[in-house]
Amino acid sequence: MDFALNQQQLEVKAEMRRFAREVIRPVAAKHDAEESTPWEVMKEARDRGIHGIDHLQRMGSDPDGMYGVIGAEELHWGCAGIALAISGSGLAAAGLAASGTPEQIARWVPDCFGTGDEIKLGAYAVTEAGAGSDVKSLRTTAKRDGDEWVLNGTKVFITNGGIADVHVVVANVAPELGHRGQASFVVEKGTPGMSQGKKESKIGIRASHTAEVVFEECRIPVENLLGGEEKLERKLARARSGEPSRGSNALATFELTRPLVGASALGIAQAAYEWTLEYLDEDPLEADFFAPALDESSTAGQPPLARQGNQQILAQVATEIDAARLLVQRAAWMGRNGIPLLGGQGSMSKLKSGQVAVWATRTLMDLVGPFAYTTECPLEKWFRDAKIYELFEGTAEIQRLVISRMQVAEYRERMIEAAAIAAEGTEPDLGGSVAAAAE
Ligand SMILES: Cc1cc2nc3c(=O)[nH]c(=O)nc-3n(C[C@H](O)[C@H](O)[C@H](O)COP(=O)(O)OP(=O)(O)OC[C@H]3O[C@@H](n4cnc5c(N)ncnc54)[C@H](O)[C@@H]3O)c2cc1C
Repeated sequence: MDFALNQQQLEVKAEMRRFAREVIRPVAAKHDAEESTPWEVMKEARDRGIHGIDHLQRMGSDPDGMYGVIGAEELHWGCAGIALAISGSGLAAAGLAASGTPEQIARWVPDCFGTGDEIKLGAYAVTEAGAGSDVKSLRTTAKRDGDEWVLNGTKVFITNGGIADVHVVVANVAPELGHRGQASFVVEKGTPGMSQGKKESKIGIRASHTAEVVFEECRIPVENLLGGEEKLERKLARARSGEPSRGSNALATFELTRPLVGASALGIAQAAYEWTLEYLDEDPLEADFFAPALDESSTAGQPPLARQGNQQILAQVATEIDAARLLVQRAAWMGRNGIPLLGGQGSMSKLKSGQVAVWATRTLMDLVGPFAYTTECPLEKWFRDAKIYELFEGTAEIQRLVISRMQVAEYRERMIEAAAIAAEGTEPDLGGSVAAAAE
């Protein structure tokens, strides 16, 4: 087991940090203030090979699964809103990959990013008013009419909603079957009957476009049903016969992306931590400020970084960020190596990182004091940006439910195994290394 990043992983980290520092940071405040889409940054990212299918493939090519989470953390260190504008189409691509046939994936994934100089966007539209966490309650319908499907309903809070070239939309084809009666469809830009509703004005990640998407008698060809007709019929037949579910497509897609979302939240926490260290460091070249005595009162008049009260807080922030990062990297490693996340490790990584981002930005604001409450101080933006990581792609409450249910399922499995072993009268198999150590 090796916890150190290897040479290639360090290079990816340095490359993404450079892009974040040189290209994202200089325009972060502007796009935040204007709530505008950072097309010029996406274009520059494309020029540097940090946007598009090639980039996605490269991020997925690390056998340890680290490139993606390292890259996400560094880009979000630059600005979470801009980073989401660059990477947000990945959710639509993941939705296509989870549900589409190989032909559908080949046809539409490129349209989520564009090719050459052209930048395109994807959107993944699940949430509706009253149906985000409770995905079985979706009310958008898709009805077959000859060679077309007809969509009706309104999606809310959709990243790139209404401006995307490809919308992957989850809708009910058999509402009586709950989430098992849902299917995913592709709706291309300009399709009559699809329009953008209200654009949300948000407190954070303001460079990322979020809007309602409205479908009114929106007709799409039958080929736009992801997975195809036969697969849908089989799935509906299984649901009607009472056969156990193989899981919802929407939930499977979210589960796959959770470590990446966690890494994104960590980028904000890390940015806030680094900035605070620099802000408090009055004399960076002073090497021995640890020299003073260990009792707190004697450090009261010392420079900020030498004060033990401050050190207590900074140490806790650094530790929490590192703990969350280890959860993120473990989940990414497991996912890449085909190890099922049966204990809810993906959700744990997102839950912990979101909480750390919110807690760390607030705690560092407390440490810095009133200046942190002004718009001159970058901490206030990171504080606003961090909150979304407790809300989207599954709220913190929902993450806890997922983790708990998976933990209970694992526990029950162990109990059943133990009972079977007891019934057979055999010793449990401890596995090679444990058994060898016991001898
Ligand atoms: C900026 C932004 C971008 C987004 N992008 C997308 C996107 O691209 N695509 C998309 O489909 N959606 C997107 N969303 C939607 C987001 O994923 C949902 O808002 C989120 O999952 C919460 O669902 P909800 O809105 O139904 O809230 P609700 O589920 O109504 O949640 C309200 C509160 O109730 C709590 N709650 C709900 N159920 C339970 C329960 N069983 N136990 C305990 N507590 C519970 C929640 O945790 C929350 O605190 C985005 C949202 C935002 C804000």
